[in-house]
Amino acid sequence: MNRPSRPTVPQPVSAWLQAHPQLAHALPAPDEEWTVREQDMIGDSAHGVLREHGGVRKVGETRCKDGNGAVAVWQVTEAVAAFVEHNVTEPSLTPCGHTGVVNLGDTYTCQTETCDARFDRETALEVLKS
Ligand SMILES: [Zn+2]
Repeated sequence: MNRPSRPTVPQPVSAWLQAHPQLAHALPAPDEEWTVREQDMIGDSAHGVLREHGGVRKVGETRCKDGNGAVAVWQVTEAVAAFVEHNVTEPSLTPCGHTGVVNLGDTYTCQTETCDARFDRETALEVLKS
């Protein structure tokens, strides 16, 4: 039996994963089943990329909690999980758990618009260099 070669992910998926390292590392493990609603941090557009190019696979359907209709249940593929593990560097996080550093003059904040965290220059440099 041929041992499958290292799993590959389609280029649009690998490009997306590398452009969104924080999300890539937050994706559910391949053995977890989830709906898009449960994984709202993935978002519809990101899920669209993953779905369209085989980064996630539909494994079933479940009933909507709020009534009628079924929603798809998904799994992240092994190939995507392996790609993230080996090829996507986990971004260093700010003290508030986000990414990016924005200079506000006297203080610094992260790139998450809704976040009010402030930290000093020393901390900002730590985030940037790690
Ligand atoms: Zn923040």
